[in-house]
This record gives sequence, C-alpha cells and structure tokens, in this order.
Amino acid sequence: MPAFLSMCLGLMLLGTGWITAAGVHPAAAASSESFDVGGTIDGVYLLDPATFAVAEPGRDWDANAEGWKPIALRDLDRGLSGKPFLIRFSVTNSADGPRTVVFAHDLAFLDTMDIRMASSTGAVRALTITNNQPFSSRPVAFPGLAYRSTLAPDEVQDFTLRVGMDTTRRMNIGVRLWDDASFEAYEAAHQLKFSSISIVLATMAVLWLIFSIIMKQKSLLYYSGYLFFLSVTIFIFYGFAFQFIFPDHPGIHEISFQGTALAAMSCALMFSTYYLSLKSQAPRIHRGNKIVAAVLAGGAVYGMLGGAQEVTVPLMMASLFVPFWLWVCSLLVIRQDQSLSVLLFCVAWGTMGLTTAVLVLQIAFRFLPIDWAPSSNYDVIMIASLIEVLILTVSVALSIRLLRQERDTANAAATADPLTGLLNRRGFQQTAEILLQTPVEGRWCLALLDLDRFKAINDTFGHGAGDQVLVDFAELLRDVCREQDMVCRMGGEEFAILFAAPAAADALERCDRLRARFSEEPSISDDKLITHNVSVGLATHDTSIAGPASLERLLRRADSALYRAKRAGRNRVILCEEDEKPEPDVILQLRLGAKSS
Ligand code: GH3
Ligand code: MG
Ligand code: MG
Repeated sequence: MPAFLSMCLGLMLLGTGWITAAGVHPAAAASSESFDVGGTIDGVYLLDPATFAVAEPGRDWDANAEGWKPIALRDLDRGLSGKPFLIRFSVTNSADGPRTVVFAHDLAFLDTMDIRMASSTGAVRALTITNNQPFSSRPVAFPGLAYRSTLAPDEVQDFTLRVGMDTTRRMNIGVRLWDDASFEAYEAAHQLKFSSISIVLATMAVLWLIFSIIMKQKSLLYYSGYLFFLSVTIFIFYGFAFQFIFPDHPGIHEISFQGTALAAMSCALMFSTYYLSLKSQAPRIHRGNKIVAAVLAGGAVYGMLGGAQEVTVPLMMASLFVPFWLWVCSLLVIRQDQSLSVLLFCVAWGTMGLTTAVLVLQIAFRFLPIDWAPSSNYDVIMIASLIEVLILTVSVALSIRLLRQERDTANAAATADPLTGLLNRRGFQQTAEILLQTPVEGRWCLALLDLDRFKAINDTFGHGAGDQVLVDFAELLRDVCREQDMVCRMGGEEFAILFAAPAAADALERCDRLRARFSEEPSISDDKLITHNVSVGLATHDTSIAGPASLERLLRRADSALYRAKRAGRNRVILCEEDEKPEPDVILQLRLGAKSS
C-alpha cells in the first residue's frame, strides 16, 4: 500500500512536471515558434556537434562553414548536446520602438557562453561570459549565463553562440530566448522559488537540530544534517539571491555543490539506518549503509575542499540513487513494523527515490519519450524533495510520539505488579515519596497488610491456589479502598495502603472492614474453599503537629504495628499512633468506638 502510494506520487510528479514543461512552462512558451520580440527570429542553425568537435573550437564561427544544420526554434531549450556546441540565428526588430532580447541558460553550472554579434548597423561585438565572472560585470545578474541585447527599429542582429561545459560528462544543455519583460518575470519567479525552498529547508534543519539536542536522538541529528546540506546544495546550485548579496563575488560557481549534495546523501543514509532500526532488523544492511555513508562523507569532504570533478560528479550521480535505496530499505522493514511513521517514511523516500532514479536514468540514457528543458528535471527533483521532507517531518514527529507512548507504557509496566495489577513496591515508593512531600495540612495513614499463615495455604492447596488468594485479596482491596487511596503489593503476600488524607478512625475502620471481609469470604480454587485471614499494622502522621511525613518512618512504624498484630494472635488491626503507645487491642477498640463521634 505505501509502496503503491509512493509510486503514484512519484509518477504524478513526473507527469505534472512533464505537462508543465510541455505546456505552460514559460521557457517553452518563450522559445516556441510564436516567440514575439516585436520582430522575427530567422535562420536558426546548429553546428553539428561532431563537426564542431573535430574543427578547432573558436575558429569555426564562419556561417558558411560545412556542418550547419537548420533547427526549429523550440529545440533551442530541449537539450541540444552534451558537448559544447555552436548555434546561430538572426533577430529582426520590426517594431516602432527599441526591443530587448535575452538569451539565457538557467542551469547554474554551465561554464561558458561565447557570443558574437554582427548588426545591420555595422556594429560587431564579441564577448565571453563565464561562471567565474563577478555578477556585477555580467550582462545580466543571473545565476545562469545570460546575455541581453537591444535592437533599434528595423535593426537586424546576427548572433553566433558557443555554449559549453568544461567537463566531459554527458548532459543535455540548451539555450533559451526571451523577450525582456518575460525574462524579468522569469528571473523573479526563479529567485522566489529557490529562495523559499532553501529557507524552508534551512529553518527545518535548525528546528530538528534543536530537537535532536533536547531529545538526545542521534538519528534526528543526521536528519537535521540532511536538511541543512540539502538547503545549502540548492542555494549553491541555483545561486538564489547570491548575486544581490555579493555582486562582486566570482566564486559562487567555484563552490562545488557536489560536496554538499554528497554530505546530504550521507546524512540521509545514516538517519534512515538509525531511524528504521536496521541494526536489529537487517544487520548486514545496517553495516553496508554505514560503509556507504562513510564513503559518501569522504567524497563530501573531498568535494568541499575543491576535489576533482571527475571524482565528485560520478559519485554524486551515483548518490542520487540513495533515496531509491532508502525506499527499498523501508519496504523491507515494513514487513515487521507497520507503524504509521514507517509507512510515511516509505511514501516520502518512495516519492523522492522513484523520481530521482527515473530522471537520472533519463538524463543519462534519454529512454523516456519526454521532451522538456533540462532545467525541468531539476524543478521536478526540487518539488519531490520538498514533498519528501514534509512527509518525513510528519513521520519523525509521529515516531517521537510513539517513543513517548512506549516510554510511558514501559514505565507503567515497571511500576505494576503483574499478578494482581496493583502498584509494585517501586511504583508505590516513587508515587508515595512525591505525595508525602506535598504541603497538605492533615493526617497521613499508612497500612501494611500481611496474609496470615500464607505458607500453609501454599503447602496445602498448591502455589496456584495461593496465587488465587492473592488475586482475591487485591480485588477486595480495590473494593474497600477509595480511588484516591494508593494500594500496592509490596511483595509476596504483603500489601500496603496509603490512605488519602483520612481521619485516622476512618482508615482504621476501613482496615478492619477489609480484615473482616477477608476472613468471611473464602477463596475458591479447584472447587475447594480456602479460608484465610490478614493482619494489619497501621501508622499515622499528623503534619500539623510533626511537619512533613517520611515514608521510611511511616513504613517502619506500620511494620512494628504489624509485627505486634502477628504476635498478638493475627487476624487483627493494630494502630501505632504518633504520640501514644498503649496496648494494641485497646487502641483498636478505642478507635472503632470513637469513629462515630
Ligand atoms: P505469617 O502469618 O507469619 O505471615 O506466616 P506466612 O506463612 O504468611 O509467612 P511466611 O513469610 O513464612 O511465608 C510467606 C509465603 O508466601 C512464602 C512464599 O512461598 C509465599 N509467596 C510469596 N510470594 C508468593 C506468590 O507470588 N505466590 C504464592 N502462591 N506464594 C507466594
Ligand atoms: Mg510475610
Ligand atoms: Mg504472611
């Protein structure tokens, strides 16, 4: 089910991206045949990349050279070649006023654009824009490479463009033509889109960092690292707003984004390995993931220190399959753990993993008949990662809630007695200590109850029958005590009650009622009647006279009263009051008699 859901989400994303790119994507609209600069664009030619590669680059600008092939204008941004290529076209302004055209590439890491322009006015220009050029000296302050040219009415400009990357990796690159106004709108949308994604991710990284520190959770620390490096990668990759903050900085493209992308993937791998508890579920995968994460972390450091792209780029491309792998890991875990947080984890990485895997394969092999601008690939991956991060956040939040619930359950289990369901000694002590500290004016009463000759019951009727008697006694305690009273099995056949701020006579009366009913209501085990008795020692403490009560002292005094009850013949209640020490049996009668007054 989650596998299916993540597949649907991934495919939906790809579909939406495709439709957007093919239909309403501003680039597609801008460079289609109907592109309007108030004039015409004619004679768009591409110099066959094979011919261009053989010919000496830089010399082969001649429009009359062999190898120029006409191409449709809309093919300009569809990815022409993975190698540097040459295109030429002419723009005519048939409008009344001046017109501006921009040709741009919005992939931030394209290396160079050489431009030659010959105008019908006789003007000739040649320039090179590179990514290492300060933004202030580029024709357009744009993270990608862009050139702006103004045409007077009736002017015709012939352009020849060389677009290239220095690396040898195969990547389809293209160039787009815009009229000035739509380029500015596009530029603003670009800034807004990537600045918001980057800021959302960075904010979430900080929040999860705080969480990870407060909750002392290693997996959350890696999760925060993943968000942080993802945000930095997007920042470097698209260079949003960088050109406005540091207009004279040439270095945005000198900072390799492969290093931070690798760091993000290494963190994602470590986070998921801990988050899915792979150590217990699949120890081999746990070990394998840690080794791969270490390799990616090494690559990240190497990349951030400016290591060779021949190493970092293939490693980064390979690391784009990490989300897909994490999806597979979650599918393995889901067979044992179907908690909502694991299901959401599966949907999150499935969406991201399937989308990236398909797109990386598409970039490398172009196996799908999809026809969109190269930048659309990155748009789709951005949206996929945003969806993934949001779903993961819900998953992590849910798992924190689950952790708390588990902790509460474990706590309850550690303080309960499994046979009778009453509090055990530990739970009793924990709660009673806190309760006795509360500054209430009044009397505390603590009773210790010990079943009489219980060993004999075990010996005569068997251990099972003994257990039955203990359960029956616990039931009787629940029946006689109020909800506010704290009832506990201290161990063996010994029980305790801390009465909630009672009058001493009331506690005494309750204890005696308990004692009486226990001796009158025999237990039944294996159709045999088991009669039994209980002895009770009761201690009281008046906070208005003696200050805060000590549990230890109360227990000690109740125990001595219990001892006296046993010695006096069992099946009775003895009270040990703070200030009086008369004969036990007298006290009982006194108290019971005094109750009505
Ligand atoms: P007394 O009247 O002096 O209290 O005599 P007693 O036999 O009740 O006291 P003693 O301490 O000699 O024996 C307690 C017995 O309780 C011994 C032990 O086997 C039994 N016992 C302790 N825990 C359990 C239990 O969980 N189930 C059962 N069936 N017996 C238990
Ligand atoms: Mg005992
Ligand atoms: Mg006993």
